Amino acid sequence: MSKVKVLTVWSDNNINEEETSVLRKPCTDIPVPYDERRRQEIKTLIDAFLAMNDAAGLAAPQIGISTRIIIFRNKGFNEKSWSKSENDYDVLVNPRVTQARGELVTMAEGCLSCPEIQVEVSRFPEIKVRAHDVNGKKISKRYTDYLARVVQHEIDHLEGKLIIDHEGALYVPKQKKDFFDKILKEMNPISDDTDSRNI
Ligand SMILES: [Zn+2]
Repeated sequence: MSKVKVLTVWSDNNINEEETSVLRKPCTDIPVPYDERRRQEIKTLIDAFLAMNDAAGLAAPQIGISTRIIIFRNKGFNEKSWSKSENDYDVLVNPRVTQARGELVTMAEGCLSCPEIQVEVSRFPEIKVRAHDVNGKKISKRYTDYLARVVQHEIDHLEGKLIIDHEGALYVPKQKKDFFDKILKEMNPISDDTDSRNI
């Protein structure tokens, strides 16, 4: 399994403009049935995810593929090493949330594409999703609690939306406060609400 690079909005003290533009681009649906190229894209995402130990989920644009594919663990989120068997993760192609229920729950989230920070994000505790599976078969799934959060986070990626676009409190490392103050103002003027920052 070759290691695929995860695109990030910044690294160290620099903005990655090219990577950001890929992460910001809304993804396109995959035509069903899948052709060979699409099958390869799905496989590339699965392989990339299975090569990681620290990710709860991964969306195709995070590895530079602008199509609507996500993958995520469906159990054992706290385990550093997990079995990585087919039963332990879900792959959704062209996912759409068809129902969202319950009162929004707010919790700090991290993202491999926004390293070093966490943002409080409000998500629904229960969702229903329609999608296609790895073989192109139509599926309908229900997710609750933390798993519902992970799925909403990954689907956000397919719209080009990142945790920094949410308006919740932002947690950044103290020694890099100035850097994040500057770049998050440039990138996300709408949520430039200094009162809600919790640094
Ligand atoms: Zn993410």
